[in-house]
Parts: sequence; C-alpha cells; structure tokens
Amino acid sequence: MTDSKRPPSPRVIEKTEAEWKSSLSPEEYYILREKGTERAFTGEYWDHFEPGHYVCRGCGTPLFKSLEKFESHCGWPSFFSSAHGDSIEEIEDRTHGMVRTEVVCKKCGGHLGHVFNDGPAPTGIRYCINSPSIRFEPSENLKPKS
Ligand code: FE
Repeated sequence: MTDSKRPPSPRVIEKTEAEWKSSLSPEEYYILREKGTERAFTGEYWDHFEPGHYVCRGCGTPLFKSLEKFESHCGWPSFFSSAHGDSIEEIEDRTHGMVRTEVVCKKCGGHLGHVFNDGPAPTGIRYCINSPSIRFEPSENLKPKS
C-alpha cells in the first residue's frame, strides 16, 4: 500500500452533486459519492467470477481484472491486486472509530471500498469493493487457460 496521508490528487472528472445524482442510480450515488457500503452478500458481484474487466461505474475507468478476483467469503467483491493500480488512490479513513485505508477512483474520486492487509499470496492485500461502485465488462481474452 502507498502512503495514504497525502492529500487527494485533483480529479480529471469533476461534476456537481446534481450532475452525479442525475447520472447515477440512488444506490450508486449513495456508495460512490456518499461513501456508503452495500450490505454483505447482497451485491451483484461478490459471487461473480466470469472473465472480464471491472470498470468504475462513475466514469468507466478500468480498475480490476477478473484474474485478480478471489473468493474471500466476506460478502463483497475482493481482489488481490489491481492491474490498473494507477487508476486507484488510497486515502486514510478514520471514520467509525477505525483506521482504515479507503480506495477511490483516481479519475472521478468515486468511493470504491477499502484495502486490507489480509489478502492471499502473492500480494497479501485485499481490495474489498462495493458492487455498485464497479461495472463488469466481459472479455473472452481474460478466460483462464485450461
Ligand atoms: Fe471513476
């Protein structure tokens, strides 16, 4: 994980709250813009393992590949790395009486979830992501070789 104490970088995509509200569903707005969390085991992708890319639902930027997704049994989509790591920014989060590392889309600032140090090898990290923050785009090219 990188130094999360830096101030957030400027966003490439800036919209007013009214513009975000009109371009997102109420659930997407709550999670991406108000840093909400979906309930565990209720989202679209916690149990989804098709080959493809996961892009930011706020701005379409590629964030994760299906090959980086793993079954974490935590009820949220979990990734052990980000092939598109440059697209993600880490921010120290001291809300709810905890010190956690929030992850946001660098381009639009949309809240994605948090990153923890309890992931599997080879990275040991776990990106714990909300389904409404991402959109799956299938790709035959990412089918595991059998
Ligand atoms: Fe984004």
